Amino acid sequence: MLDLLTERFSKSLSKLRGVRKLTEKQVNDILRDIRMALLEADVDYDVVKSFLKKVRDRAINEDIKNKLSPADSVVLTVYEELTSILGGEKADLKRGVVIFVGLQGTGKTTTIGKLANFLKNQSFKVAVSSTDVRRPAAMLQLQRLAEKVGVPYYSFDEASPVEIATKALERAKKEGVDYLLIDTAGRLHIDEELMEELKRIKEAVKPSEVIYVADAMQGQEALRALKAFHESITLTGVILTKMDGDARGGVALSVKEAIGVPIKFVGVGEKLEDIEIFYPDRIAQRILGLGDLQSLIEKAQQIIPEDEAQVLATRIMMGEFDLEDMLKQIRFIKSMGPLEKILGMIPGVSAELKNLKIDEKKFKKTEAIILSMTKEERRNPKIINMSRKVRIAKGSGTSVGDVNKVLKEYEEMKKMIKRLKGMQGIPKLPRFPF
Ligand code: GDP
Repeated sequence: MLDLLTERFSKSLSKLRGVRKLTEKQVNDILRDIRMALLEADVDYDVVKSFLKKVRDRAINEDIKNKLSPADSVVLTVYEELTSILGGEKADLKRGVVIFVGLQGTGKTTTIGKLANFLKNQSFKVAVSSTDVRRPAAMLQLQRLAEKVGVPYYSFDEASPVEIATKALERAKKEGVDYLLIDTAGRLHIDEELMEELKRIKEAVKPSEVIYVADAMQGQEALRALKAFHESITLTGVILTKMDGDARGGVALSVKEAIGVPIKFVGVGEKLEDIEIFYPDRIAQRILGLGDLQSLIEKAQQIIPEDEAQVLATRIMMGEFDLEDMLKQIRFIKSMGPLEKILGMIPGVSAELKNLKIDEKKFKKTEAIILSMTKEERRNPKIINMSRKVRIAKGSGTSVGDVNKVLKEYEEMKKMIKRLKGMQGIPKLPRFPF
C-alpha cells in the first residue's frame, strides 16, 4: 500500500539528513521531487498544486519551529501538510443507519461484510440488509457474508428498495441494533434512476452515514464518480477498497482535498479481516518513512512532563548534567519500550540504525550501579573514591571495573551533551556511548 510514494518521499527527504543549513536550491529540489512523486502516484493535479504551495509558504515564512534544524523543519512541515490533505483527524463512523453506495464491482458488498465483522468485534450490535432488488445474487452474497460474520441479515420478500430500507430500520430499532448497514444497488455507470432511488432511500431512513465505496485502483476515474455521487446525494464518508493492490495511492491523497469528504476506512485485501481504520497521521508517517513519529511525541509527552524536560534541558545546557540526570535519561528511554522500536519512531534515523541491536542488559546494569550510589555521589561524582567504588560494585552486584566504565561513560556523555544546543520541549536524546 502506497509503496511507490513511500519510496520516492523517503529517497527525497533522505537528502536532507545531516544538513545543517538549507539553501533555497535544496528546498526547490525537494519540492520538485515531491511534485513528481505525487503526480506519478496519480494524485489530483489541483491537490498537488495547493499542497506544494502550502509547504513552500511555510518553509519560507515560518523559519520553521526554531527549535528544529532546518532539515527537520522541512520534514515536519511536509508531514503536517500531508496529514492535513489526508483528512487531518481520524473520522469516526456514527452510530445508526449506514447506507453504502457506489458503482458495481468496487467491493461494496465485501466491505459491508468486513465492516459488520469489525464492528461486531468491537462489541456493537450489528445488522445488515440489501436493497439491490434487481440483483438477487448480490443480495445472496451479503446474506452469506452476514452468516459468516454471525450478524442478522434482514430480508423482506417482494418489497421495493425504499420499503426494505424502512422495514429494516423498524426492525433494527426494535432489536436495539447499534449499526444497521444497508447495501444499495450498484450500477456499471452513474444513471439518474439510481440516484433517484438512493435519494428516496435516504429520505426514508435519514441515515447517520452515507458511505461511498470507491476502488482505489481506478485512480482519477474513481474520483470523478465520487464527485458525481456527492453532488447528487451528499456523502458523509468514503471507504477506499483494494488499497493492497494500488501502490500509487493517488485517490487516498486526493479525496478529502478535492471532494471534502473524509476517508473512514480502507480495504486491504479480500478476507473479512482486511479492513483498517484510516488514520491520516499514520498514513503520512508511513509515506514519509518516518516510523511512528506521532506515537513518539505522545509517549515523550506522557513520560517527561514538559517542565521537567525543560529543567533537565536547562541543566544540561548549563553543563550541570550529573549522574541523577543520566539515570533520568536512562529511565526515560527505558520507559519508552525496546530501543530498536524507539529508533524506528525517530525521524531521520536510517534503516541501518533501526536494525541495530542495542544492549538493553547494559542499560539495566548502568541503572543498578547508579542506584547503588548515594544521592551525594550522584550529584557530585568526583567524590567517588576507591572505597566508594567497592561499595557501589557490591551493592549493584557488579565489579569495580563496571563502576569505572559507567563513570567514564558519564564523563563522555557530559562532554557530548555540552555540545548539544537547542534542547527544548521534547528532549533530543543524546546518543548514548553504548
Ligand atoms: P460490489 O459489486 O461493489 O458489491 O463488489 P464485491 O464486494 O462483489 O467485490 C468485487 C471484488 O473485489 C471481489 O472479488 C472482492 O473480493 C474484491 N475486493 C473487495 N475489496 C477488496 C480489497 O480491499 N482488496 C482486494 N484485493 N480485493 C477486494
